[in-house]
Amino acid sequence: MQTIGRFAPSPSGRMHLGNVLCALLAYLSARRQNGQLLLRIEDLDAMRCPRSFADLILDDLRWLGLDWDGEVPYQSERSDIYAQYEAVLRDKGLLYPCFCSRAALHAASAPHLSDGRVLYAGTCRDLTPEQIAEKRKTRASATRVRVPDEVVCFTDAVWGEYAENLADECGDFIIRRSDGVFAYQLAVVVDDALTGVNEVVRGADLISSTPQQIWLHRLFGFEPPRFAHIPLLCDHDGRRLSKRDEDLDLGLLRERFTPEQVIGALACAAGLIDRPEPVAARELVSTFDWSKVPRHDLHLPDIFR
Ligand code: GLU
Repeated sequence: MQTIGRFAPSPSGRMHLGNVLCALLAYLSARRQNGQLLLRIEDLDAMRCPRSFADLILDDLRWLGLDWDGEVPYQSERSDIYAQYEAVLRDKGLLYPCFCSRAALHAASAPHLSDGRVLYAGTCRDLTPEQIAEKRKTRASATRVRVPDEVVCFTDAVWGEYAENLADECGDFIIRRSDGVFAYQLAVVVDDALTGVNEVVRGADLISSTPQQIWLHRLFGFEPPRFAHIPLLCDHDGRRLSKRDEDLDLGLLRERFTPEQVIGALACAAGLIDRPEPVAARELVSTFDWSKVPRHDLHLPDIFR
C-alpha cells in the first residue's frame, strides 16, 4: 500500500524550527517510500489561527523545498464532517455534557499525570437529566467521550512499544468545547482517516494523545495509521522551543539563512547527516532511515544561537 503521510501545523504563529524539523521528517519518510505527503491546516480555533499565518506556513514550506501533494484542507471549514462523527459517538451512548470550569478541572482532587495533563475526575460523568437541565440554565457544556478501562498499545517508529490504559492515563476527554469548537482529538482522527493517511509524523509531546486517537479510529471502523513521534528541539537552556521563541521563527531565519542551511543544520541535529552542511531536503530522501533519529531531546544547532 502506498504511504500517505501528512504535516498538520496549527497556524497560531509562524513556524519555528521544531515545526520545520517535523515537516522535514514527515516529508523524508513519505518520499523515501515513494509515498505522498499531504498538508492540512489545523485551524480549528479560528480566532487564534488567522488565515495570514496559514498562508505564511505554505510559503515557508515552499521556501524550504518541502513540497506536498494535493489540496490543502482547512479544519475550520470541516465542522459539518466532525459533527457526523460526533453523532456516531452519541449514538453509541459514549458522550456526555461536561460543565466543569477550567479552575474546577485543575482542582486538587483530580490526579495530575506525569506529563502535566490532568486526569478528568469524572465530575459530570453520571449527572441525571434533571441535573443537566439545571446546569444548562447557567453554563454552556463541553462534550466528553467516556473511555473504557482498556489498554491501547502501538509500535512507534522512534520510541518502540508504547502503551496506555485509557481510564487510568487518559480519562474521559473532550471532543467539543463549550464554545462549540471541535477538539483536536476528534478532528485529527477524522481527517487522517478520511484523507487516507497511514503514516503520522509529529512531535513527541503528542505521543500521550495517540492511544486515545487509536481508540477513536477503531470505534469509527478505521485502520489506525503508523506513528513516528519525533524528538523535540531544545534551546541552550534545555527549554523546548515553542511559538513564543520568536527569534527562531521562519520570518527572521529567512533573513539570515538559506533554506539549505536550515535543512542541513536540522538534519545534522536529527542524526541524518554527520556535519551541519547546507543540503536540499530532496537530497536527503535516498538515505533517510528512522533508525538514525534519536529518542532524546535535540540541541538547537549552533548556527541558530
Ligand atoms: N496541529 C498540531 C501542531 O501543530 C499537530 C497535530 C498532529 O500532528 O497530530 O502541533
